[in-house]
Amino acid sequence: MDDTKLQDENARIAALRRLDVLDTVIEEPFEKIVTLVRAVLGVPMATVTLVDRDRQWFKAQRGMGMTETPRSISFCTHTIQQFEPLIVHNALNDPRFADSPLVVGPPHIRSYAGIPLRTPEGYKVGALCAMDNQPRHFSSNDIAILSNFANIVCDELELRQIAESDFLTGALTRRGFIAQAEREIARCRRYDRPSSLVMLDVDHFKSVNDTHGHAIGDHVLRQIAEIAEMMLRSSDMFGRLGGEEFALLLPETTGPDAVVVAERLREAIAAHPMQLPDQNELRVTASFGVAELSPGIGSLTAWLESADAMLYGAKSDGRNRTRLALPALSYQHATICRPGS
Ligand code: GH3
Ligand code: MG
Ligand code: MG
Repeated sequence: MDDTKLQDENARIAALRRLDVLDTVIEEPFEKIVTLVRAVLGVPMATVTLVDRDRQWFKAQRGMGMTETPRSISFCTHTIQQFEPLIVHNALNDPRFADSPLVVGPPHIRSYAGIPLRTPEGYKVGALCAMDNQPRHFSSNDIAILSNFANIVCDELELRQIAESDFLTGALTRRGFIAQAEREIARCRRYDRPSSLVMLDVDHFKSVNDTHGHAIGDHVLRQIAEIAEMMLRSSDMFGRLGGEEFALLLPETTGPDAVVVAERLREAIAAHPMQLPDQNELRVTASFGVAELSPGIGSLTAWLESADAMLYGAKSDGRNRTRLALPALSYQHATICRPGS
């Protein structure tokens, strides 16, 4: 790794963002690794730490009792600034850490070993850490073991990226959906069969997060995915294109028939009381854009753009409605399905 990559904090943060891992839910592979680090090295604390601009966030942790801390008090911010693993035998004797709230207060870290986590481009985005409440000498064998686990963490972070199934909702990832949609286009062209694309975006989702918190937002996304999966045929494809935007690919379905499917799903989402932990209920709606594959649509990008333009139209018409692009016409021409119509 060259020095510029150690220095370029903006590029490092961009590499971290591309991993799309901050603030995500618990995932088994990382849980296993921190459990193994703790057992194999015999330490009470182990973390998979990602160093964000102003905080360190734990993708997985054992024994810390917290999910993030300010970056300024973290050990890992030092680990990612050097080429070698960072080893601290006794934090009380190290001026960088002796006053850290993590040392003088809970979880009372005394010794630390951290192996930097590197992206394939060479940016250090975090560290795999083993920590003890006692001063401790980490042997070269300990460091070798920890380094091997750190390599597995890096592989897992990469695998998440190419996964076909979205970890939050179980829907296809954008990548997985696009791969299947490309195959569907080829099939439709070969056999001259109809096929339709439905895009949906949750209405005012930002205010769900702002009012109830990100965890509730995640919960709402999972419930929407469950409703959709329940209503779909086995040949239909369902993907999460990003954030709170989903897409359905409906083989053997004309545009008007796809509107029927979209409207059923729209009504089911609007009618479904999303359960909140405090026993209250939350209702959300979504807007839909539908486009049938037609000879005028020359690529998957054009197909997605056509459905997206309809979705945008449904939003500007007041949300909680479905818009269908008219095939063979430019997608400015559209029919609108309003709630209750
Ligand atoms: P509109 O009706 O126009 O779609 O408004 P909106 O608030 O839904 O749209 P906007 O794009 O402003 O906000 C989308 C929000 O979705 C912002 C972002 O923080 C949130 N979000 C994206 N991905 C996730 C996620 O995985 N979980 C949670 N909880 N929120 C997410
Ligand atoms: Mg939205
Ligand atoms: Mg959106």
